[in-house]
This record gives sequence, C-alpha cells and structure tokens, in this order.
Amino acid sequence: MSGGRVLEFALLGHPVAHSLSPAIHRAAFEALGIEARYRAMDVSAEELEATMSRMGRRGGGNVTLPHKGRAAALLDGASRLVRATGACNCFWFEEGRGLVGENTDVAGFLEAARDLVPKRWPAGRVLLLGAGGAAAAVVAACLEAGVGSVDVLNRTAEHARSMASRVVGPGTPVRVLEGPGPEGAPRAPGGTPAALALPGGVPADRYDLVVNATRLGLEASDPLPLALDGVGGAAILDLVYGPEETRWVREARARDLRAADGLGMLVEQAAASLACWLGVEPPRRIMLEAAAHAAGRTT
Ligand code: NAP
Repeated sequence: MSGGRVLEFALLGHPVAHSLSPAIHRAAFEALGIEARYRAMDVSAEELEATMSRMGRRGGGNVTLPHKGRAAALLDGASRLVRATGACNCFWFEEGRGLVGENTDVAGFLEAARDLVPKRWPAGRVLLLGAGGAAAAVVAACLEAGVGSVDVLNRTAEHARSMASRVVGPGTPVRVLEGPGPEGAPRAPGGTPAALALPGGVPADRYDLVVNATRLGLEASDPLPLALDGVGGAAILDLVYGPEETRWVREARARDLRAADGLGMLVEQAAASLACWLGVEPPRRIMLEAAAHAAGRTT
C-alpha cells in the first residue's frame, strides 16, 4: 500500500489483450505479499501521456508496442538507457523528479544472454538480426556488457544504419552488414526458407551468439530468420516467444546448439521493472512459471 492506497500498475500498449505481463506481475506481487494490482490497458497514442501520468502516480507501469518511443519522449527523467535506445518500457513517478523511466528490455536481454551462455558472456562476436526497438535494446546491452563486436543484419539496411548510429557507445564496434536479400538466402534442410542471409565473405561460424530481434517466428508460417547451416557452435537467442518455442530455437536444439526463446527475457525485463518500482528482489522462478503457464506451455 502507498499512503493507504493499493498500488496500481499497468501495461500500456495497443494491442495488449494477449500480454503475459499481468500474469507475471500478479504472481510476483502475490509471492512477495505486496498488495498491488496490474492490468493491461489498450491505449491510443493520444491517451498515452495522461495515462502514464495517472498510473505513474498510482504505482507505475510498462509500455509496449507501439508506444515505447513516444513514452521515452514524455518522461521528465529519462535514464541513460532510455536516451541511448530512444525507448521506454517502464515508468513510475518520483517526488521532485516527475515521471521517470527506464528501458528494462536492456537488463532483460543481459540476464537472458548470461543465462544462456554463463561461461561465455560477455560474448566475443554477436550477430544481431533486426533493427527495431528490441534490436536497439540488444545493442545497448552489448555495449553495456562490453561484448567484443556486434554485426547487425536487417531486411532494410537503412533501418540498421540509423539504429546503430543512434545507439552509440565506446568500446564495442557495431557494424551493419548488407545481406544479399531473401532471394540470396540459403534454404534450411527440408526447404525451409530463411528471410535473411549473410553477405558473401562473412562466415557464419565466426559468431559466438546469434540473436533474432526481428518479428519472424511470431507466425508459424514465417520463414526462419537465418538458416542455421554453418553457424558452428554459436548460441542462439530468439527474442520471439509464443505458446511453444519457436521453430528457429527447436532447429538449433536439434543441431545441439545452446538455444533459448524470448520468454526468459520477458520475465527478466519484468523482474527489472519490479526492482525499479519497488526496490524488491523479484521472485524470478515464480514469475517464469507464471509466464510459461499464461503462454499455454505445458512443460
Ligand atoms: P519492431 O520495432 O517492429 O521491429 C521489427 C523488426 O523485424 C525490424 O528489424 C524488421 O525489419 C523486422 N522484420 C519484420 N518483418 C520481417 C520480415 N518479413 N522479414 C525480415 N525482417 C522482418 O519490433 P520490436 O519491438 O523490435 O520487436 C521485435 C520482436 O522482438 C517481436 O517479435 C517482439 O515480440 C520481440 N520482443 C521480445 C521481447 C522479450 O522480452 N522477449 C522484448 C521486446 C521485443 P525492417 O527494418 O526491414 O522492417
């Protein structure tokens, strides 16, 4: 309770009906014995400012597509990572500072990557597929962790260039690759097409970690983001999640590669959000179980 009131949190986005966040946060509040509510709110761009202001004073909230960029611009106090990525997915109100926000996708990715390759993190060479908001969080996280290098491959190279130039930092070189386009992409065994392909002369086996931050895998009919032929011993981290693991993750496992989908990152960004709002140690295992259950997973 805050001043006698039950704390209230919300996920703001459009659409939000199928979000797993309410289940994850409710399970965490219950486990921690915190009297608080969390709900998904479908809000338009025009409603975002007033809703953030209202919910920020009641407790706080998360922001998802398509409002993360707009939310960043509405903050009185944007964190360094919000400024670097241009995206805010977690906000709350602080006396004297006003509406403040963080990009907890960065921490979410860091934890998920560390979980996947605990002995090999920070990774040497990372190949990042995609250039949207999630990809920006991955680049920021790689810079934060001090990985050796990040190569970015995206359907639209121009989007990758503008994302990489925005999320700059010292230390880790970030390079944009120009792929040959889908017609040049090799097919996986069984003829499964891949949407992206590395340019000639860039061997796939040079990477320690390959991350899918495109939307590919959300639909069962989607092509693979990248064929797994030749990736050597790279670990595979797919940010996409659904009722079951993505085909890319399953194919990686079938090749004995370490692989994980985006459910772990989702839970870790929720855990980081809880820590921002309440300064508590999040009950990660319970949150992961709640996420898996809400996603419809049986194992
Ligand atoms: P976004 O900003 O809309 O970016 C979408 C990306 O997907 C762009 O790079 C886009 O390429 C690419 N793309 C879309 N359709 C494609 C196609 N047919 N072929 C090749 N590339 C295609 O979305 P986002 O917010 O970055 O999210 C990306 C994914 O990450 C989503 O599936 C989302 O659910 C997931 N995500 C997961 C977490 C987590 O916690 N696990 C957190 C955030 C996001 P172009 O630039 O060429 O359009």
